[in-house]
Amino acid sequence: MSTADSNLAEFHWLMDVLQTIDVGILVVRLDNRILAWNSFMENHSGISPDDAIDQDLFEVFPDLPREWFEHKSRTVVQLKNRAFTTWEQRPYLLRFKNNRPITGSAEFMYQNCTFIPVTNIRGEVESLCIIIYDVTDEAINKLEQQRTNAQLKELSRLDGLTGLYNRSYWEKQLEQEFRRQKRAVQTTSLIIFDIDHFKQLNDINGHLAGDHMLRQVADVVRKTIRTSDIPGRFGGEEFALILPDTPPDDAVRLAERLREQVESLVVEDEQAGPLQVTISLGVAGWHSRYERHQDWMVEADQALYRSKAAGRNCVTLA
Ligand code: GH3
Ligand code: MG
Ligand code: MG
Repeated sequence: MSTADSNLAEFHWLMDVLQTIDVGILVVRLDNRILAWNSFMENHSGISPDDAIDQDLFEVFPDLPREWFEHKSRTVVQLKNRAFTTWEQRPYLLRFKNNRPITGSAEFMYQNCTFIPVTNIRGEVESLCIIIYDVTDEAINKLEQQRTNAQLKELSRLDGLTGLYNRSYWEKQLEQEFRRQKRAVQTTSLIIFDIDHFKQLNDINGHLAGDHMLRQVADVVRKTIRTSDIPGRFGGEEFALILPDTPPDDAVRLAERLREQVESLVVEDEQAGPLQVTISLGVAGWHSRYERHQDWMVEADQALYRSKAAGRNCVTLA
C-alpha cells in the first residue's frame, strides 16, 4: 500500500469511529458555520448532516445563547486550550429530547461538553470541535438524591405526631431570632402554652385519644398563626411559638384567640367520644436584658405557670 492509500485507509477508519461513537461531535468554524456533524448529532436532533453542514449554528439552534457561546469559544481560541462545561452549570448546550428508557422522567438530555480548539498546519485555530456527552442518567440520579436529602432534612425538623417543628429545630430558630433581635426594629414575641389536666384526659380516655387531641390542637395552631410565625412542639403537651416582629400586646391578642379556639374545639374520638381541653399560655416579648435565648424561654415559661396558678385556661404576659 502506498502512503497515500494508507492515509486514506486511516481516514476512513477514523470517520467510521467518529460516526459510530456514542458522543456528539460537532465542528464549527469561527464564523459559526457547521463543518462536521456525526450520527449522534443526527439521531438526537433529528437534523441530517445535509441540513446541518454549512449552516449557521444559531440558525439551526435558535435557542442557543449566543453571548454565552461566543464568550466560551473566544476563550478557547485565544488561549488555545480546551474548556469544559457541565450539566450543573448549564443543563444542556443543545436541547435534545431525552430518550433513555431508565431516565424517561427527564424532559431533555443533560449534557457535559468539551470545547477543543482545532488548529491548521500553521498552528492557527481555525475551528472549534465540541464534544457532547449524554449525562442524563448521572444528572437524574444526582437530582433525585438532592430531592431526597431535602425531604429527609425537612422530616428531621418535624415532630412526628403533630407535624409542627420539633424542639431542637424550633430552639435553633429561637436562637437565631434572639441574635437578630439585637438589631431589629420590631420586637419579636414568644408564646408557650400547655394543655390543662392532660394527664387526666389520657388516664380516662387512653393515650391514643390523647394523641388525637394533640394533633387537633396542632391543627388549631397552624390555622391561627401567620406563615411567618414558627410553631414547635416543645415537649409532651407543651407548644411554643415564635412570632417575628410582633409586639407583646399583639402576641397577647393572638394567644387569647388560640385559647378561645382550643376551648371551643370538640374532638370526636371514635373510641372515647367527644373530647375537649383548655390551654394555659405565657407570653414574653424580647428584652435587651436577656443574655441568652434560654432567658427568654424561662420568662415565657414563668408567665405560663402564673396562668396555671391563676386557675388555667388563661393568658399571662411576662
Ligand atoms: P397541668 O394542667 O398542670 O398541665 O396538668 P397536666 O395533667 O397537663 O400536666 P402533667 O405534666 O402532669 O401531665 C402531662 C401529661 O401529658 C403526661 C402524659 O401522660 C401526657 N403526655 C405527654 N406526651 C404525650 C404524648 O405524646 N401523647 C399523649 N397521649 N400524652 C402525652
Ligand atoms: Mg399540662
Ligand atoms: Mg406539661
